[in-house]
Amino acid sequence: MLPANLLAHLHAAFPPDRFYTDPVDCYAYAYDNSRKIFPPDAVLFPLTAKEVQHIVSLCNQYQVPLIPRGRGTGTAGGSLPEVGGIVLSLERMLSIISVDPANRVIVAEPGVLNQSIQDAAKPHGFFWPPDPSSATFSSVGGNIATSAGGPHAVKYGTTREHVLGLKAVTGAGNFITTGCYTTKGVVGYDLTRLLIGSEGTLAIITEATLKLTALPGAVAGITAHFHDLSSCTAAIVRIMALPQLPSALEFLDSGSLNLIRGRYPDMLPAETNAMLMIEVDGSSTDISAALAAILEACQTDGLIHANQVDNAEALWKARKALSPLLREIAPKKINEDVVVPVNTLPQFLHELAQLSANHQLHNVNFGHAGNGNIHVNLLIDPNDASEVARAERCLDEIFDLVIKLRGTLSGEHGIGSEKRAFITKEIDHATLQLMKNIKQLFDPNNILNPGKLFPAAE
Ligand SMILES: Cc1cc2nc3c(=O)[nH]c(=O)nc-3n(C[C@H](O)[C@H](O)[C@H](O)COP(=O)(O)OP(=O)(O)OC[C@H]3O[C@@H](n4cnc5c(N)ncnc54)[C@H](O)[C@@H]3O)c2cc1C
Repeated sequence: MLPANLLAHLHAAFPPDRFYTDPVDCYAYAYDNSRKIFPPDAVLFPLTAKEVQHIVSLCNQYQVPLIPRGRGTGTAGGSLPEVGGIVLSLERMLSIISVDPANRVIVAEPGVLNQSIQDAAKPHGFFWPPDPSSATFSSVGGNIATSAGGPHAVKYGTTREHVLGLKAVTGAGNFITTGCYTTKGVVGYDLTRLLIGSEGTLAIITEATLKLTALPGAVAGITAHFHDLSSCTAAIVRIMALPQLPSALEFLDSGSLNLIRGRYPDMLPAETNAMLMIEVDGSSTDISAALAAILEACQTDGLIHANQVDNAEALWKARKALSPLLREIAPKKINEDVVVPVNTLPQFLHELAQLSANHQLHNVNFGHAGNGNIHVNLLIDPNDASEVARAERCLDEIFDLVIKLRGTLSGEHGIGSEKRAFITKEIDHATLQLMKNIKQLFDPNNILNPGKLFPAAE
C-alpha cells in the first residue's frame, strides 16, 4: 500500500493513462522472463528526465521502492517489484534524439527498442553492435542496465563497449552526466561503465550516447558437424586461437540438436552430436582468408563435415527458437548463462555432463562458444520436489566449477534476484563491501531496486 499523500502527489502530477494503480493494470508489470510474479502497487510512465527526477524525489520522501523497467524481458528478475512499490516503466521515453553519422553516434532515450536503433543506423551504413536475441522487443535502457550481448559479442563485445556517455537520475534524485560525446575522453572516473550492468540499482538512465560501428562489407557462414562433444570443443579452442576472429561462434550440444530436430525434422543429419554455427564478416578478401583458416581449424578427429553455407538464415532461425522450445518442454527450466575461459570449455562441458549425471538431471547446453558463454539449462519438473532439490545442488556445483575455471557466473543476464545468493562465490568480501558503499552513495535511502544484486543476508 502506498502512502495516501504520495498517491495524492502522483495523481496531481500524472494523468491516469500514465499512472496505474488498479491491480489489473499493474499485473502486466508484475513479471519478467524469470517467470516470477510480484505485483507492484503502482506503475508510472514518465516522459521526461525531469518527471523521472520528480518521482525519485517523492519516493525518497516517502521511502517507497522504485523499480526501473524497460520492456521486462530480463531473465534475472531485475525488474521485479519483489517488495512492492512503484514500477517506473521507461517504455514511453521513445525518442531517438539525434543520428550523427560523422561522429558515429546515436543519442536516444531509454525506452527506444534495440531494433529501432539498428533501423536508424542502417541507412548510414552503421549498426549498434549489442545484439541480444530479444533485440526487437528489449529497450536500450534495459540493454545498458544489463550490459546485454548476443552472438556477435565474440567480435564486437557487449553493450559495455558501445556506450560513450549517459544521462541519469541517481537514487538520491540528482541529475548526472557521465562519459562524453567523443570516442576519446579521460576526464574523471568512468561512471558510464559503472552504470552499465548496474541493473537499475544505482541510477535511472534517461538518455544514452551510443557508439556506432560500420556495417561489415560482407558476411559468410560455416556449419561444422561433429560425432562427439570433445572434438567439437577442441575445434572451438583451435578457432579462437586463430588471428581471424569469427563474428559469431555458436555451439549446440546433442540435447539442443534433438530439440531442433523435433521442430525442424529434416534440418540436421542424424549422426551429428555437436555442432558449430560460425559467421565471419569483413571485406571479401578477409572473409576468404577467415573461411579457409576456420575450415582448417575444424579438422578434429570427430569432424563429420564442415561447409560454407550460402544461406545460414534457416539455421539462425532454428538457433533463435531454442529458448522458446526449451520453455515448451520444461516450463521451469533453470537457465544459466555462465562464462568460462575458452580454453577450458572442453573441461567445463565434460565436468558439467558428469555433474548432471551425478544428480540424475537432463540438461541442454548451447551458446556463444567464442566468448565461453554457455547457456546451461537444467530441465526440471517443478512438481517433483526431489528433482528440484537435486537441481539446486547441481547448480551450486556448476557455479563452483565455473569459478574454479576462472569463469564468471553471468555473461549477459546479470544477477538480479535470481543469482544474488551466489554472488559471494565470485566477489570477495572487500570488493562486495565497496560495491555496497557505492550503492549507498548513489542511493542513500535504498529506494532503487532494493534487494537486487546483493545477497539477502548482506
Ligand atoms: C527470448 C529472449 C531472448 C533473450 N536473449 C538475450 C540475449 O541474447 N542476450 C542478452 O544479453 N539478453 C537476452 N535476453 C534478456 C533480456 O532481453 C536482456 O537482459 C535485455 O537487455 C533486457 O531489456 P529490457 O528492456 O527488457 O529490460 P528489463 O527486463 O525491463 O530490465 C532489465 C534490468 O534493467 C533495469 N533497467 C531497465 N531500464 C532501465 C533504465 N532506463 N535505467 C536503469 N535501469 C533500467 C531493470 O531495473 C532491470 O534490472 C533475452 C530475453 C528473452 C525473453
